[in-house]
Amino acid sequence: MDFGLTDEQRLLRDTVRDFARREVAPVAEELDRTKAFPYEIVAKLGELGLMGIPFGEEYGGGGADTLSYALAVEELARVDSSVSITMAAHTSLGTMPIYLWGTDEQKGDWLPNLCAGRRLAAFGLTEPEAGSDAGATRTRATLSDGEWVIDGAKQFITNAGTEISGCVTITAVTGSEGGGREISNLIVPNGNPGYEPGEPYRKMGWNASDTRPLTFEDCRVPEANLLGRRGQGFKQFLHILDGGRIGVAAMAVGLAQGALDEAISYAKERQAFGQAIGKFQAIQAKIADISAQLEAARLLVYRAALEKDAGEAFTLTAAQAKLITGRLAVRACEEAVQIHGGYGYIEEYPVCRFYRDAKILTIGEGTDEVQQMVIAGKLLQT
Ligand SMILES: Cc1cc2nc3c(=O)[nH]c(=O)nc-3n(C[C@H](O)[C@H](O)[C@H](O)COP(=O)(O)OP(=O)(O)OC[C@H]3O[C@@H](n4cnc5c(N)ncnc54)[C@H](O)[C@@H]3O)c2cc1C
Repeated sequence: MDFGLTDEQRLLRDTVRDFARREVAPVAEELDRTKAFPYEIVAKLGELGLMGIPFGEEYGGGGADTLSYALAVEELARVDSSVSITMAAHTSLGTMPIYLWGTDEQKGDWLPNLCAGRRLAAFGLTEPEAGSDAGATRTRATLSDGEWVIDGAKQFITNAGTEISGCVTITAVTGSEGGGREISNLIVPNGNPGYEPGEPYRKMGWNASDTRPLTFEDCRVPEANLLGRRGQGFKQFLHILDGGRIGVAAMAVGLAQGALDEAISYAKERQAFGQAIGKFQAIQAKIADISAQLEAARLLVYRAALEKDAGEAFTLTAAQAKLITGRLAVRACEEAVQIHGGYGYIEEYPVCRFYRDAKILTIGEGTDEVQQMVIAGKLLQT
């Protein structure tokens, strides 16, 4: 497998790297402290064509491959995870289902604004009683007089409650099928009567990203808001999660790289016992270990992206990449804080925020335990 980046991929990576350093890094601490959604940055990402990287150019997307998308997510996470997850959840979770399964009309209605970043899309799978066990969905949608009537709740949903949130795609039980529950996907626009995003959660990290519970009470949407084939909803969302894991793994690689960058520059500056702390073997070992694990993890993420782009099965690699990188990000951030000593515990230093932002990477888009189930399931299948 060829891991060399094409000229287009390098250009995109360098553009995002430059943007992240110039436009995101200077405001990241303030956004985190004030828990302010990064509207201006999202608008600029839209202008740069970064809110619709993998989608067709006919809809205003970038027409680029998964590896390009992963590179962009990685570079954003290197300086700010909140901005990175806003872009990643919008792209691979919110917009992708409409791109893959939308009718021409649904695509025409939604994709131009979503690809331009004028509107955000959210992905509503998780419920109070259905997280890892996502098929246990209790939200129901009943067809009545040409409308789906939706009742239920979702929780921990990213991007659903901002001023520019356009829609959420949700799973709902739409009937029974062969003794089991029939689950379908529906598009629910923001502002639709009966659909209420709740108050944002107070979180450990990702403070500038929008995360809320959603309620649906007698929420009526047209029958035409069914997304894809009736009864295919759970299967469709599992496919979306597979792809989404490449994005989250890329975030973890970016965050670990950002932590390593900070640790290296601090280790060169900070003096103790008459010399820079980077001269001490204990500090060198931490930096060496993280850098080696990071390079290996990055290759695994790129491999998952390349497999997806080649049309090969990528579920196993994506789950392995998600499992390895989430843990690595947590460890890298912890070591970076350690290298900063007391300053690492102080919010003025980015590693403090990085440490708080890292933990969700072992939980969101499938916990580590779920990745282990997916990996073992693939390896042990007969
Ligand atoms: C900030 C944030 C943003 C999010 N954004 C979104 C979003 O945009 N859209 C969305 O749909 N969801 C979103 N989520 C939800 C996220 O994907 C879930 O939190 C995650 O999948 C875990 O589900 P849960 O929280 O219900 O945990 P649970 O499923 O209750 O798990 C609790 C614990 O039990 C373990 N466990 C569960 N089942 C098993 C098993 N069979 N074997 C072994 N261990 C098991 C889990 O691994 C975990 O350790 C977000 C969450 C957060 C915190």
